[in-house]
Amino acid sequence: MNVTTLPKPPRVGLVSLGCPKALVDSERIMTKLRAEGYDMSPDYAGADVVLVNTCGFLDSAKAESLEAIGEAIAENGRVVVTGCMGKEAEVIRERFPDVLAVTGPQQYEEVVAAVHDAAPPVPSPFVDLVPEAGLKLTPRHYSYLKISEGCNHRCAFCIIPHLRGDLVSRRPDAILREAEKLVAAGTRELLVISQDTSAYGVDLRHKSWPWKGEEVRAHMTDLARELGKLGAWVRLHYVYPYPHVNDVIPLMAEGLVLPYLDIPFQHASPNVLRRMRRPANDAKVLERLRSWREQVPDLAIRSSFVVGFPGETEEDFAYLLAWLEEAQLDRVGAFKFEAVEGAPATSMDEQVPDEVKQERFDQVMAVSARISGEKLARKVGSTIDVLIGAVDEETGGATGRSKADAPEIDGEVHLRDAEALRPGNIVRVSIEEADEHDLYGVPV
Ligand code: SF4
Repeated sequence: MNVTTLPKPPRVGLVSLGCPKALVDSERIMTKLRAEGYDMSPDYAGADVVLVNTCGFLDSAKAESLEAIGEAIAENGRVVVTGCMGKEAEVIRERFPDVLAVTGPQQYEEVVAAVHDAAPPVPSPFVDLVPEAGLKLTPRHYSYLKISEGCNHRCAFCIIPHLRGDLVSRRPDAILREAEKLVAAGTRELLVISQDTSAYGVDLRHKSWPWKGEEVRAHMTDLARELGKLGAWVRLHYVYPYPHVNDVIPLMAEGLVLPYLDIPFQHASPNVLRRMRRPANDAKVLERLRSWREQVPDLAIRSSFVVGFPGETEEDFAYLLAWLEEAQLDRVGAFKFEAVEGAPATSMDEQVPDEVKQERFDQVMAVSARISGEKLARKVGSTIDVLIGAVDEETGGATGRSKADAPEIDGEVHLRDAEALRPGNIVRVSIEEADEHDLYGVPV
């Protein structure tokens, strides 16, 4: 049996100087890098690159910043400078010609790009929350918002808890502050990510923090509601179908949160789910989906499934196919079980042969594509909101996403006669055609 050994993620060291605002900037850069799979290094020696967030407010602060850059160069040698002193790039470059990049305050994209150059991310489907294409550089109009790190579950195929530890949630006020800044900087869509968004705040005992003269609880529902008030689309990823998820459905009905849930079911057969040690593994899931759709008829559900998990029998697989027919999910991603070093499932008996995995994978993909095609065909003739991602000046066409499409993993909406549009616009589009993945239409 082939066992995949994961490469070590690159490590970033951080020296953060200056005022609380600079600290928030550092936190935001680090959140983004962590969301992309980077690790933090507590010391110079273990870092692949050191980020120095400088302060240039007073001469003494500048001197301190230069000293910090000098120390990082001497101790590590691979240094990216950002923050207020970035405005004086010449001063820094003159004194430290070896600095890899200098970016100014709030130039998040540039800082992250410089880190990508200095220590390229190592994409891995086993641990990444952000799709590989999203790593390149998220365009300004959508942003990933990481709300926690680690996971309290112990799924048998997963090594996240081993790599990242138990769930550690960020404070809700810090998340909201970051989200507010992103929206002010042009983000039209916030993609909430974590290993288990439905478990957000459990480790903080769902305590409250002051926010805008009121209190906000560290709880998925409260956080989603506050995020929804910021005026951007809010999309929830990696939600498990626990009973308390019922409470976010009304937020979708109110229009505060997108009618979209990314629920990684991974399987449907109780036998396989038990072996996988999956959370929220209960028989009422289909009932719950039905009730959610009654409340929010245009709710789009995306999910992913693993086929060929050790011990998956023909009956288990038939159960999964029947379940998919019943659940009518909008988007489905399938994976063939792969043994990963360190995951308990790797040493389980009853491993499924590769050719059986491939057959089952093909079947799941075929069923899902048909269901997706049927569901998209029903949208022809309707008018929906589309967030524009790119405009092609030569053809006059544009590409965007509907509320049912997350970037990189779901479908797109292709528009004709759209030359006047710009990336980040949200427009009404009349749908004229559909295929298994995408929609085609014209702005109205
Ligand atoms: S819920 Fe399971 S699969 Fe997801 S991160 Fe936690 S242990 Fe891994």
